[in-house]
Amino acid sequence: MKLRPSSAYRWLACPGSPRMEMVAPVPLPSPYAQEGTDAHAMAEKALKEGTCPSEVPDPAVRLYVDHCAGYPESHWSRFIERKLQLGWMYPNVRGTADFVAFNKGEMHVVDYKHGQGVPVSIENNPQLRIYGFGAYIELYPHKGKGKIHLTIIQPRCEEVEPIRTETLMFDELRAWRNEVLVPGVEACKQPYAPLVTGSHCRFCPALGICPAQANGAIETVPDLQMPAFPPAEALTAEQMAKVLAFIDLFGPWSKQVAACAQDAAEKGKKVPGYKLVRRRSNRKWIDQDDAGKELACFLDDDELYEQRIVSPAKAEKALKAKGEELDPALYEKPDTGLTLAKESDKREEVRVGLPEEMIQLLDIMQ
Ligand code: SF4
Repeated sequence: MKLRPSSAYRWLACPGSPRMEMVAPVPLPSPYAQEGTDAHAMAEKALKEGTCPSEVPDPAVRLYVDHCAGYPESHWSRFIERKLQLGWMYPNVRGTADFVAFNKGEMHVVDYKHGQGVPVSIENNPQLRIYGFGAYIELYPHKGKGKIHLTIIQPRCEEVEPIRTETLMFDELRAWRNEVLVPGVEACKQPYAPLVTGSHCRFCPALGICPAQANGAIETVPDLQMPAFPPAEALTAEQMAKVLAFIDLFGPWSKQVAACAQDAAEKGKKVPGYKLVRRRSNRKWIDQDDAGKELACFLDDDELYEQRIVSPAKAEKALKAKGEELDPALYEKPDTGLTLAKESDKREEVRVGLPEEMIQLLDIMQ
């Protein structure tokens, strides 16, 4: 059984997941994982060679390198891509802290995330807290006192601030280790550790084979107390909320089943009612320069080439890297309508169907 720090958010919530992972199919290689590895390699090289942050080609990596450059070797003890022995947590566990810097009284542990789809929360982030505690006991010579700053830098995710930090006293971190981490590890070690479904299931390798997932999917429909799928507009608001929760769980699970079915078909197994076909693809130039030269004999420049301005978000990032700000007069945010989000979503609630005076009254009462 493996207890990886990067999946601690999952095994702390679902103690049965590490055992399920042992029998889960090996996940298909993802291009996003390779992009992340390449970005980390670029950052490591730049920091170790002392490259000026403005010369780092990828703007997201540049932001991370620039942040770390704020802790110069002249004033800080620094570690880049530092391997940490985390056997104090569970046998043979290791991890790599992207960046650690400390002086007498303060320690910074920084984690770079290249992903853009899913924002990683900094609050109570178990991976960073494990690295923080590991760095503290392995590297920090001034034991017992001071603060630790845990930082996530995730520049490509537009839903959250690119740099987010949680600061703890060392004593608080030790208390979290004793009160949350150690009991969590103990729970995973139990032979019949429970399977607990929730939002943490989303990237679980065992999603496609998990009995708790399958049971949840089956049980949800009877829970609506209806014999079959009713017309959507016939559901009450409470029933709709149950179905929405079901979609959150069942959606990723069904994608995993689709991936497993494709894997089986590619290994020669017949999946009844399905067949393997070539993916659709678009034509692309073999050599853009050659094609451009050839076509220039027949087409004008405006027929042959197109140039588009980057998005405001990209322009803002590029400007930020140069210490400039985007002029708000240059862009607008079109109203794309309303969408239903969870109560926990950070966006402000839009109340519809109520007169303005009533909304103001509700605000006063809250
Ligand atoms: S899918 Fe969810 S419930 Fe099942 S093992 Fe993974 S984390 Fe646990």
